[in-house]
Amino acid sequence: MQRRWMAAVLGLVAMAGCSSAPQPSPAPAPAVGRPLSGALRWMRRSAEYRALTRETYAAATARVEQLAPAMSGAAWGVILDADETVLDNSMYEVRRAAVDSAYTEASWSAWVRDTAAGAVPGAVAFTQRVHALGGRVVIVTNRADSLCAPTRLNLRKVGVMADLVLCQPPGPGDKNPRFEAVERGTASPTLPALDVVAWVGDNIQDFPRLTQASRADSSALALFGRRYFVLPNPVYGSWESDSTP
Ligand SMILES: [Mg+2]
Repeated sequence: MQRRWMAAVLGLVAMAGCSSAPQPSPAPAPAVGRPLSGALRWMRRSAEYRALTRETYAAATARVEQLAPAMSGAAWGVILDADETVLDNSMYEVRRAAVDSAYTEASWSAWVRDTAAGAVPGAVAFTQRVHALGGRVVIVTNRADSLCAPTRLNLRKVGVMADLVLCQPPGPGDKNPRFEAVERGTASPTLPALDVVAWVGDNIQDFPRLTQASRADSSALALFGRRYFVLPNPVYGSWESDSTP
């Protein structure tokens, strides 16, 4: 009872206030975004990230230069992943943080269609060097087939020399069948069977028959630095599915 009375008095006071003086404009709504993760800030801002991507591409370039002379007469090439290997999507992550939301299919499709991704440092020069040496560049990405046209456009915009872009057909994202098709020459009528001399990716699954389980098998990782070249990606990847501390 006492509470109801107090509420009535307070209501009258509030009404009196409304009629006698203008109210200040409402305070702006608090920002809805969240701070950027350390991993994302590291990829976007650190000198170390840029040094590492250049280092990886420099090693890949040196290896291809070493192997190319023996390839004379044969069709050869390299296979690269797209996202966080040649295309930098960190601005997409920034935009998701600004609205405190994670990846969604709709927001990702809109980002891809914007063709606004930048190039990972070192990637463009690597693809140009492969071409200058007579090799082909194939991008094997798990971007959906329906997004392959804007993906090709984005790659062209940043200067990546891609002879073929293989997106993910409906079904599982296993890249091995596409790797094998490139090597057999069945991936595209425009491309012969390629002797693939190097793979570049930011996810262990960007490399033939490797998975997160490969971490326990040092022999499975023996080709890194020789045929396989990996880029850092602490923001997302197949490693996220393992919750072991
Ligand atoms: Mg990737």
